[in-house]
Amino acid sequence: MNNNLMDKIVALCKRRGFIYPGSEIYGGLGGTWDWGPLGVEMKNNIKKIWWKDVVQLREDMVGIDSAIMLNPKVWEASGHVAAFADFLVQCRTCKGRFRIDELGLDKFYNPNTQILEFKSYEELGDINCPGGGHKFEFDLIGEDDAIGSGLKEVKIKPHKFNLLVPAYLGVLEDRKQLIYLRGEITQGVHINFKNVLDSTRVKIPFGIAQIGKAFRNEITPGNFTFRSREFEQMEIQYYIKPQEPEDKKWYEYWKNFWMDWYANSGIKKENLRFKDHEEGQRAHYAKVATDIEYQAPWGWAEFMGIHHRGDWDLSRHQQYSGQSMKYKDHETGEEYTPFDIESSAGVDRSALFFLIDAYSEENGRIILKLHPKIASYKVAVFPLLANKPELVKVAHKIYQDLKKDFMVAWDDRGNIGGRYASQDEIGTPFCITVDFQSLEDEMVTVRDRDSAKQERVKIVDLTDYLHGKIE
Ligand code: ATP
Repeated sequence: MNNNLMDKIVALCKRRGFIYPGSEIYGGLGGTWDWGPLGVEMKNNIKKIWWKDVVQLREDMVGIDSAIMLNPKVWEASGHVAAFADFLVQCRTCKGRFRIDELGLDKFYNPNTQILEFKSYEELGDINCPGGGHKFEFDLIGEDDAIGSGLKEVKIKPHKFNLLVPAYLGVLEDRKQLIYLRGEITQGVHINFKNVLDSTRVKIPFGIAQIGKAFRNEITPGNFTFRSREFEQMEIQYYIKPQEPEDKKWYEYWKNFWMDWYANSGIKKENLRFKDHEEGQRAHYAKVATDIEYQAPWGWAEFMGIHHRGDWDLSRHQQYSGQSMKYKDHETGEEYTPFDIESSAGVDRSALFFLIDAYSEENGRIILKLHPKIASYKVAVFPLLANKPELVKVAHKIYQDLKKDFMVAWDDRGNIGGRYASQDEIGTPFCITVDFQSLEDEMVTVRDRDSAKQERVKIVDLTDYLHGKIE
């Protein structure tokens, strides 16, 4: 049933122009997606409201847009060259390879030995292979000895795959420089920490926001745009005084901020939850970390992460670049390397969850109940009859006027019922119909997607009316 739901969403996205498979006419390119005319509007809306809420409306935040191609030393300093990896184990039965976190084994991974270590066979337990219907059969290190001699410890060596996507820069074939397409947008912010301090009037606590593309050599891309190899992130690095336990207050503040933000953007509260990272599951940089998860058709899945990165990044960049990354408090004279509370969300992943959450069917018809802030088109305009020039003229004038403020759709095909259905399917919250009465009273019918209620609104009031409804 849930697979069925994903199939329906994937089909709807292709049919109506939200999301197409990447490079489709050449047989595709795994883990890449192209956003169609409706998809790009929706994605832009997500980014726009995100930016407005975290940069424009706040006094403690500025934004930047750093380069995608960074000096490769950045990734050495950040630890990504050494530690940005996925670990896979292979099932002996079906030969399928799966990430250790997919099997719930990441907590047994010892980064020093790079081995999965269990105290006993019981601790490893029986694991069902995601390949389907059978027990996962692992290759154990020294297995014959272990079984034969009754050894208690069980060890598995996973295969390591670095997620950074290499690229080669330069014109001379034999002198190309190895760089990496950024695996996260975070580092572009940290390396500009001093620039922002020196060129603006920010004072701790403050944040730097960024939205942009990231690239990862994901081994198992899947679940539509959930895990892609090229995707966009929206992130805040929020710099605070390195003080405990005050730092936890900011960490809690951002956790709650984002939970409310997604709920206010239309995601049903019961489909959201926090999931703290346990010791051993955290990224190499994180002191404490939590995910906001969404109840996806395939189970709870990470929406975004809130990570207390401590002073890991700034200290490492200070060490590797030789440049000071310290903050000086001009009132107290104190100098310190700030802590960073990071909020990191995926744009493509968010868009997918907004689509899933909004998807509903009523009497066999699809209604995409997207929040009006997120919906691709805010309003559609129809002349009641396409062959009545007097109606078309008035409707077209309304269409042109509203376009100055909103993304507006035009439809004059078929009957009104069919047009409503077509707009419901793509989540347009309001439909305006110009009828013969409109020619006399200069009013139109506005129909609400979710309640299907209709009301008459003066043509001159339409812009204000829609602003009120959407915002
Ligand atoms: P996951 O555990 O799902 O691989 P992650 O913990 O590696 O994610 P982060 O490195 O914390 O993810 O990245 C922050 C956010 O970026 C994620 O919460 C997600 O929204 C987004 N993101 C990460 N990887 C991908 C991807 N491959 N495709 C789409 N979005 C992604």
